[in-house]
Amino acid sequence: MHKTICVYCSSSEALSPSYFQAAADFGAFIAQRNYTLIYGGGRIGLMGALARSVHQHGGQVIGVIPQSLQDKEVGYNNADELIVTKDLRDRKAIMEARADAFVALPGGFGTFEEIFEILTLKQLQLHTKPIVLVNTNNYYHPFVQLCEHVYAERFAKPDSRLLYHLVPEPAGVFPYLDTYQPPILPNKWF
Ligand code: AMP
Repeated sequence: MHKTICVYCSSSEALSPSYFQAAADFGAFIAQRNYTLIYGGGRIGLMGALARSVHQHGGQVIGVIPQSLQDKEVGYNNADELIVTKDLRDRKAIMEARADAFVALPGGFGTFEEIFEILTLKQLQLHTKPIVLVNTNNYYHPFVQLCEHVYAERFAKPDSRLLYHLVPEPAGVFPYLDTYQPPILPNKWF
């Protein structure tokens, strides 16, 4: 079955080459595994590296970009489909609705916001799709520590660990997706 994968990742150009390499590797896997990429539609940072790699390996790319960012000319105009939305909220809603799985490569505030929203919706059982964080250079280690602090202080149940999955490198994403079973989650509230 043809599936769509939503990827959240950095728009920064200032990162170490290892992050760009991981984004390019992931793009190649997406195309080889016959997934369509849906993402924020940028041509800069890891977003651009990812989208170009999907195309170089024969895959399909859907970009979803708000008008304001398109006006700043950071859009990836080679996307097979470029959806220009009114604002950032519309953009997230389209990406969420069309994706079968969510993957975050390293990123900054924009990426965190997207991760937390998709986790929050899953916590509330408003979707049951897989969420994977690619832990290149151990970038997401402090994120995991923050989550553990949240559980230790009982702001969320430790079962919340079932909401997301970390993999050390892009190759690890697909075995997880292939065998994914939605977790049986307890009620969110204590
Ligand atoms: P950040 O992690 O702060 O670099 O933000 C990246 C995330 O936010 C991406 O997953 C995008 O969906 C969104 N985003 C932020 N900046 C841009 C941009 N210039 N073009 C397109 N999307 C962006």
